[in-house]
Amino acid sequence: MTAAAIEATGSRIDTTMRVGVMAGVHDISVQDLPTPVPGRGEVLVRLRATAICTWEQRSFSGAQANKFPFVGGHEMAGEVAAIGEGTDTDLQVGERVAIGSASCGKCHWCKTGQDRGCKQHYGVVSKYGPAWGPGGFAQYKVQTADGVYRVGDAPFETAALSEPLSCAMHANRLLELRVGQDVVVIGAGVMGLMNVVAARQYGCRVIVSEVDPERLAMAARMGATELIDASKVDPVARVKELTEGRGAEAVIAAIGHEKANEQGIAMLSDRGRFVLFAAAHPEPAFTFAPNEMHNRETGVFGVISGDKQDFYAATRLIRYGLVDLSPLIDIRYPLEEIGAALEHAIKPGTYRVIVEMP
Ligand SMILES: [Zn+2]
Ligand SMILES: [Zn+2]
Repeated sequence: MTAAAIEATGSRIDTTMRVGVMAGVHDISVQDLPTPVPGRGEVLVRLRATAICTWEQRSFSGAQANKFPFVGGHEMAGEVAAIGEGTDTDLQVGERVAIGSASCGKCHWCKTGQDRGCKQHYGVVSKYGPAWGPGGFAQYKVQTADGVYRVGDAPFETAALSEPLSCAMHANRLLELRVGQDVVVIGAGVMGLMNVVAARQYGCRVIVSEVDPERLAMAARMGATELIDASKVDPVARVKELTEGRGAEAVIAAIGHEKANEQGIAMLSDRGRFVLFAAAHPEPAFTFAPNEMHNRETGVFGVISGDKQDFYAATRLIRYGLVDLSPLIDIRYPLEEIGAALEHAIKPGTYRVIVEMP
């Protein structure tokens, strides 16, 4: 599709757009770069809100190595600006959407219903000369049509949180939770809180273990049913006490920490599952007793992001107001102030910082 053809679809799209390009640690500037053009099977989304996640924060602060120049932002919402010629989609120009999990539909992972493993999982990686990345800190983003999800009239900033919610929905689906079971979430940062929200969708009791009293209060607001201040009480003993000595059927570690891993394993019930939901740099140690796992039929698995069905579920929860993620939004910055937005986001104790596009 040419720029002229895009104009023919009705919406005027400039040939250049503003993009926040991270050149290195604590170094980001907003540049004029060519607006991408959607090809066959692709949709051009005019981004309106992108949330700053841990990957972007760690790249910016230097806590995690990245390849620069980098165009971050993978939690994105906006509206359909143009549809590539010959694209098979029922999306309409102007519809509000979130950008999420895609897949090829042909590979082993797609055919076995585990499309998170597909090479096309992230859809289109944005490339602007040497700069690369998910491309959310920009006015426009191209994505394969199957990775563009309707959000109805949900606000852009909460629609942008479809991606982190989809990761939590994925973890909780893989846990095969049943109504009334006990789930522990360790760590009540944004990703821990997304897991609180997800576990509540399964009708579970959600016990949150956290050392920060303010975060515990936020956990209660987001639906946690039991709070453990891990700075004051032994969380393992307290979980046992809350569960008639059994321990919890599921424990989700939403912080990457050796102690969280140790505690998480120790508070599992028989047949319980422990989820490694967070990475940490440097990598924390993790030890477990194989015989004990064998005898008690416990298990461990990791989660990084959701299959398409999890993303779809997340957008439905947000679209129809079945969950309220608005308390997780701290502050908004315009794209032109992306540096200040990132400086704010890396401060401890912040929830989601939203970058708004002009
Ligand atoms: Zn994220
Ligand atoms: Zn595939």
